[in-house]
Parts: sequence; structure tokens; C-alpha cells
Amino acid sequence: MPSDTESTGKLVYKRVLLKLSGEALMGPTEFGIHMPTCLQFAEEIATALRDTGVELCLVIGGGNIFRGLAGAANGMERSQADSMGMLATVMNALAMQSALEQVGVPTRVQSAIPMDTVCEPYIRRRAIRHMEKKRVVIFAAGTGNPYFTTDTGAALRAAEMSCDAMFKGTQVDGVYSADPKKDADAERYDHLAYQDVLARDLRVMDASAVSLMRDTNIPIVVFSLHKKGSLQDVLLGLGTSTVIS
Ligand code: UDP
Repeated sequence: MPSDTESTGKLVYKRVLLKLSGEALMGPTEFGIHMPTCLQFAEEIATALRDTGVELCLVIGGGNIFRGLAGAANGMERSQADSMGMLATVMNALAMQSALEQVGVPTRVQSAIPMDTVCEPYIRRRAIRHMEKKRVVIFAAGTGNPYFTTDTGAALRAAEMSCDAMFKGTQVDGVYSADPKKDADAERYDHLAYQDVLARDLRVMDASAVSLMRDTNIPIVVFSLHKKGSLQDVLLGLGTSTVIS
């Protein structure tokens, strides 16, 4: 296992799951999918793949389109609403596949809810094979079960794929003691223990996702999605991030 703190300029994590929230795909808009933003992420991923040789899989949330909790609050049966949330993640996965293929990155979408005419079903061994062939695999429909989130789906897939790290792309370059956009004294952490995140309720990811990463000993790397080249830098052990391990 590579060290997660060394700054070598060499690939630190050979296989990585990158989790993006659905909201990241909205770009400057208030709802839905902003294709220029998807294309920016796709370019960033294409550069990182070309220059580092990393094996990459993606999980994208659905909050830019539909959240089960919001549907339930609006009078819908919760499991039914969660199914709609999971379908939203499939839409996002297809949009990102389109963006990645426009920049020349071969991509497969695998859905936890089978929909054979749209994408592949989730098959663990097949997903691993795709990554070995340097295809990006996008895991859609979360865990396939209601009452879960895509953070937990991402943690589950990272464990199943034996990833060396789960990367969480956010608005800022790591985990801070307070919101750095509101509090000038907010302090960024270079490193946190899983237990710190859970006990202090730092809300990096759902507690169930963090505990699964703790149990499987997979580091969570929180970094900025908005700084050009940051994905590649963090893969190479450079740049700024918070490592939870
Ligand atoms: N969802 C679900 N099971 C899963 C993953 C997701 O039911 O395993 C539903 C849930 O309704 C959730 C929605 O899909 O609100 C969108 O996912 P999430 O809220 O995690 O998206 P994000 O906040 O990352 O955009």
C-alpha cells in the first residue's frame, strides 16, 4: 500500500473511486445538468488518466434532479421517492458518459437497477475488467436500495473494487474546522482519523459511508473540484487535500 501522505510526484493511488455530488453537475444553474460543467470535469479526468495511468471509477449523486427525502416530504411514499432519486443518478451517469466520450475517454455505465437497453447491469468482475482495460466505470443507481445515499453506494463500490482510495470532490480543498467561505479563521486539516470525522460530525460524507471506509481501511481524500489540475495533483501526492485514514 502506498503511503497517503508522501509527496512524490508519482502515482500514490493506483485505483480510485471518485464521488461527485449531483449538485456538482449543475454548474452555475439551479437545477439539472449543465453540460459545459460536465465537460470541464471530463477534461480534468481525461488529463489525469493520460498523465498518471490511474484506474478510475465514478459515483455521481442525484441531488441536482431529485432527492428521496424531498419527495417524501412532499407526500410521496419514501421507497418510491428513493427509486426516483436513484433514477436521477442514472441520468447524471449518462450525461457524464457522454461528456467523457466527447473528450475521448472510453466509459461504461453500470446500474444497480438493471435497465439493459440503457446501460450495463452492475457486475463486479466485469467492472474490474473494464478498469484494467483503462475504461472509466460509472456506477449508477447508488446501492439499488431505498433509505441509502450515493455516499454509501460509493463506499460500497470502492470496497468491492478494492480501490486504494475514495476521492470526494467538493467546493473547497479539504475539510475545514468551519465553513471557510463564512469564517476567515476556519482551519484546514491535512489529515483526520475516521473517528474524528464521526465523533465530531464533520459531515464530509454520511456516517455509514465513513464507517464502511474505516472497516475496509480505504482512505477518503477530500479535494477541490474547482481548481484546475487538482485531481491529477492529488493522485500524485501533490496539491492540497485532506486525507481521512
Ligand atoms: N438513493 C437511494 N439509494 C441509494 C442511493 C441513492 O435511494 O443507494 C436515492 C435517494 O433518494 C437520494 C437520491 O437517490 O436522495 C440521490 O442521491 P444522493 O442524495 O446521495 O445524491 P447527492 O447528494 O450526492 O447529489
